[in-house]
Amino acid sequence: MTKLFGTNGIRGVINQDMNGVLAMGIGSAWGTYLKKTITRPRIAIGTDARLSNSMLKSAVAAGMLSTGCDMTDIGLVPTPTLQYTVKEKNYDSGVIITASHNPPQFNGIKGVASDGTEFSKDTEEAIEALYFSQQYTRASSDVGTYTTWDGAIDLYIKGVLSTVDVARIKKQRFHVVLDCGNGVGGLVTPLLLKTLGCTVTPLYCELDGTFPGRNSEPTPENLATLIKTVPEADASFGIAQDGDADRAIFVDEKGTYIWGDKSLALAGKYITRKKKGDVVVTSVTTSTCFEDVIKANNGHVIYTKVGSPIVARTMMEHHAVFGGEENGGLIFPELQYCRDSAMTCTKILEILANEKRPLSALIEEIPRYEMHKMKMPCPNEKKERVMNLLAEQMKGNSDVVNIDRTDGVKLFTKDGWVLMRPSGTEPIFRVYVETKNTQDTQRLAATYKDIVERLIQRV
Ligand code: MG
Repeated sequence: MTKLFGTNGIRGVINQDMNGVLAMGIGSAWGTYLKKTITRPRIAIGTDARLSNSMLKSAVAAGMLSTGCDMTDIGLVPTPTLQYTVKEKNYDSGVIITASHNPPQFNGIKGVASDGTEFSKDTEEAIEALYFSQQYTRASSDVGTYTTWDGAIDLYIKGVLSTVDVARIKKQRFHVVLDCGNGVGGLVTPLLLKTLGCTVTPLYCELDGTFPGRNSEPTPENLATLIKTVPEADASFGIAQDGDADRAIFVDEKGTYIWGDKSLALAGKYITRKKKGDVVVTSVTTSTCFEDVIKANNGHVIYTKVGSPIVARTMMEHHAVFGGEENGGLIFPELQYCRDSAMTCTKILEILANEKRPLSALIEEIPRYEMHKMKMPCPNEKKERVMNLLAEQMKGNSDVVNIDRTDGVKLFTKDGWVLMRPSGTEPIFRVYVETKNTQDTQRLAATYKDIVERLIQRV
């Protein structure tokens, strides 16, 4: 069976592999799935700021309405705002039309369960099976109703503010350069920061689905203006969001880009310090700097396969106090189990307000590691055998101290680790190598590149 759902919902190029007919089919399959257990499902739907959002939203909604689901359109919202609304307002499901950080020609459909978390793989597979069978439940005269509600952003901002000491943050009068990248975060974050007493210097905070300001992925290259503006404006720090505002990346007061591993470690450090230990969750790709700071506070890290729904669900299962991904997707369970950039900004402000030291000084205390990422071509049909052979071969290798098969093959050596993950979409392995310094990282990368290349040729 062809797969529709990827790591983060269904995505594609608009009017090509992501089109109205597909979207209506997905809506019909989704509605049929809900109708199996719920007489009259209630669904919230929202979109990011892409130009194709109305077209896709209407098509998904038409499919759902045809099966007898009642829809509430909450308009333009960040993904975490939709998730929070579903949970707080007791919807049976939520739909967000977004392609996150992808270029403007893309769009996508992402599913949210009644507890506000992203769909599990099981739910996605059940909807997928219904889509391909086309065995849809169609309502007769009792098709669904369609209403709008404009209270989602207010509800969400109130929720975020309820998790911190607002007065304490306000007192510090932070100056923040905020780069929303023309994404839908522009509807929430400027308002939230002003409520927290911040002076906001805005960059690309106007919503524009063509993303004229910068590319939507918050990489160092794409954040050149923010990196330059923060020290020029003499700001406390800078924030950048991706297109649907579930991820946040920071720039310190000197204009240094902070990788997602470090902001994850920073938040994890202060949360586990306050909780005096406890469980946190991240995926196997995260830098060891995270585990170092958690262990120093007597905390425990659970590693998962890559994918924010997996991290979030593992957090729920283990009652974790914090979790997230190394790409700026941080999850704070006191609000909700999903990546949330507005929560991330608020929590970082709280840490800075409590510590009364600049962001660069706090980041300086996070242990340093050097990570190298590379892609290695490998035909899809060979991937499984190559991984199994590598794990087998390394069992007898004295340099390898541990082998972890949570996701792909992760080999721990005395200097660091090497992770080889098969890409779900391309005929490649994604390889991550990390040690304490550049030289060891390069050496380890070269060694394993060689070993894996030979294995690929052999199988
Ligand atoms: Mg995103």
